[in-house]
Amino acid sequence: MAVLSNEERVKILSDIIEIQSVNEKELDVAQYFQKLFKKYDIDSEVLKLNGEASRANLIAEIGSGKPVVAVSGHMDVVTTGNTALWNYDPFKLTEDNQGRLHGRGSADMKSGLAALAISLIEIKTSGTLKQGTIRFMATAGEEVTSNGAALLHERGYMDDADALLIAEPSEDGIVYTHKGTMDIQVASKGKSAHSSMPELGFNAINPLVDFIHYLNAEYAKVNEKDDLLGTPTMNSTVVSGGDQVNSIPEYAESLFNMRTIPSFDNKKFEALFNSVKDKVEKESKGDITVNPYVNRDPVYTAGDNEFIKLAKSLGDQYFNRDLPLTSSTATTDASYLMKDKDENFSFVMYGPGKTGQAHQVDEYVDKDTYLTFIDLYTQLLTRYLNDCNS
Ligand SMILES: [Zn+2]
Repeated sequence: MAVLSNEERVKILSDIIEIQSVNEKELDVAQYFQKLFKKYDIDSEVLKLNGEASRANLIAEIGSGKPVVAVSGHMDVVTTGNTALWNYDPFKLTEDNQGRLHGRGSADMKSGLAALAISLIEIKTSGTLKQGTIRFMATAGEEVTSNGAALLHERGYMDDADALLIAEPSEDGIVYTHKGTMDIQVASKGKSAHSSMPELGFNAINPLVDFIHYLNAEYAKVNEKDDLLGTPTMNSTVVSGGDQVNSIPEYAESLFNMRTIPSFDNKKFEALFNSVKDKVEKESKGDITVNPYVNRDPVYTAGDNEFIKLAKSLGDQYFNRDLPLTSSTATTDASYLMKDKDENFSFVMYGPGKTGQAHQVDEYVDKDTYLTFIDLYTQLLTRYLNDCNS
């Protein structure tokens, strides 16, 4: 017997969609879940992000001892973009005549987060967990830097974890490896002067142009490919410098976005940038700073463990299909949560919503899929933990 009716299950999703946690206000979502959990006698802890009043993670636990399964989802969402393009109010969960629930975060990933939270309540209330611990971790800031997940890792919440389930939208496949991401700012410092007397200054743009040129040339020699993840990528996506046409610019910068793979990872990109910096500073006497400000490692596991096997068999059964075990080009909080884990760690990313719905106008999740995932998670977590030989 389910503890929560389908109406109550949809109401919870609807309530958290209404909290406009666009890269802030995760604390409001955390407090919503804290209050909900309290009703069902589940203790939880709000973990505030350093110095940020409206931002926090939430950790809740049921059961005790080993094994420990961590389940996680992020509470933040991306911006709506141009709301005029939306056919629905982005912050009011709306069902259409095809049974789709629309709203910002419906797929990415408040439905996955709500499904995890509700399965925790179902398991706690039914008393079906015979051994082990389920640790629910709702995170802040995933869409930007994963600083919420970084804090959880730093505070040791993953140290004793034996498995990790992330409920990111991936209903069409079970993901066990994904790319990393990295953003680097390259700043060039010069000295301003009137453009009629450039010899009194130093033009910050020139070394930056050299930098981009050499970097692209060096990167063209990189020949790395992963069977599942494909090649890494690198792009200069923003360039700015100078502020007046008759002044020698004292500052210029470029931003770069990289998607990384295990054989050409974040460390290798950083080393590449630093070697180009050395070359440019030597040749042009420029003053270059390389600042990696987003740094999320690729996640690699072998994808061969009992947890992922059970996830697949339940997914196949609940949705009557043959789900692929697969990879993702997107990055998740696992980049931080799995920092100290090796390829044998049991990592599964599997959740309601199609990958292609993330960050879209009129974003949606199928209501039936959302509801089914609650039952699926309840089965996955209890069966995995109860059957473990401890
Ligand atoms: Zn997401």
